[in-house]
Formats: sequence, structure tokens, C-alpha cells
Amino acid sequence: MIQGGCLCKSVSFKIYKETRKAVICHCTMCQKSNGEFSSYTKAKLNNFKLTKKSSLKWYHSSKKYRRGFCFKCGSSLFFQKIEDPIDIAISTGSLKKNISTVGHIFYHNKKSIIDIGSKLKKFQKSSNGYFDNMLEKIK
Ligand SMILES: [Zn+2]
Repeated sequence: MIQGGCLCKSVSFKIYKETRKAVICHCTMCQKSNGEFSSYTKAKLNNFKLTKKSSLKWYHSSKKYRRGFCFKCGSSLFFQKIEDPIDIAISTGSLKKNISTVGHIFYHNKKSIIDIGSKLKKFQKSSNGYFDNMLEKIK
């Protein structure tokens, strides 16, 4: 099991069994929401449990997707399909354990002058699920 949560500990959660390896997203929305890029893992909802959610808020950042954050401390935590979600993307910075990183998406928007994981697989736009089966087993 991996535990995670926000900076002020008002939102916390657990991931069980397995989770997708981390993918760095450079899209312009992640740039605004997460600093300069995001790093998300993705867990199936039946492997994910919110244990504290009193200050969790959702912002509908586009028609189909929403972003979860803590309204007390401002931590950006989740990214999820609004209708019939089967999984939830979780900011890897919120986790107590390290998840290995496998690639980049929306690389054409990349801003940073620092090359992080520049040898990893890159997609200029969406990966269309390319990374979805790259799972990290959780003990
Ligand atoms: Zn918080």
C-alpha cells in the first residue's frame, strides 16, 4: 500500500495492489495547475481509497476532465474523467513512495530549461493510453 496526501494533511488517500508508472505531462493546463509540468501515476478506482477528504475540491478544467486539489493548502492532487471514471490520476509528489517514471506527454509544450528524464519515451501530444499497461506493483 502507498499512502499519499496534501501538504496540510486534510486530504489523504491510499493506493493498493498496483498503479501505473509515472508520466510527466507538459500541457499548458498542467503547467498552470502544477507549477511547470505534472507527474501523475494512475490507479484503478478499486485500488484507490480516499481516507480524508474534508477539504478536497474539484475544478472542472475542461469539458471532460476535472482536477482535485486541497482548498486549505492548495496542493494539486488529482486529475480525473468527470463521467464514469474507472481510474484516477494522482500527483506523484503527493505520495510517500517513489514511482518510477516512464515518459512524457505533450512534450511540444515543454517549458523547462532543465531536461528531466530526456531519454524517456516522448509524445508530442497525448499518448492515447500507450503507458496504461506499465504498472508498478505495490507491496
Ligand atoms: Zn491540504
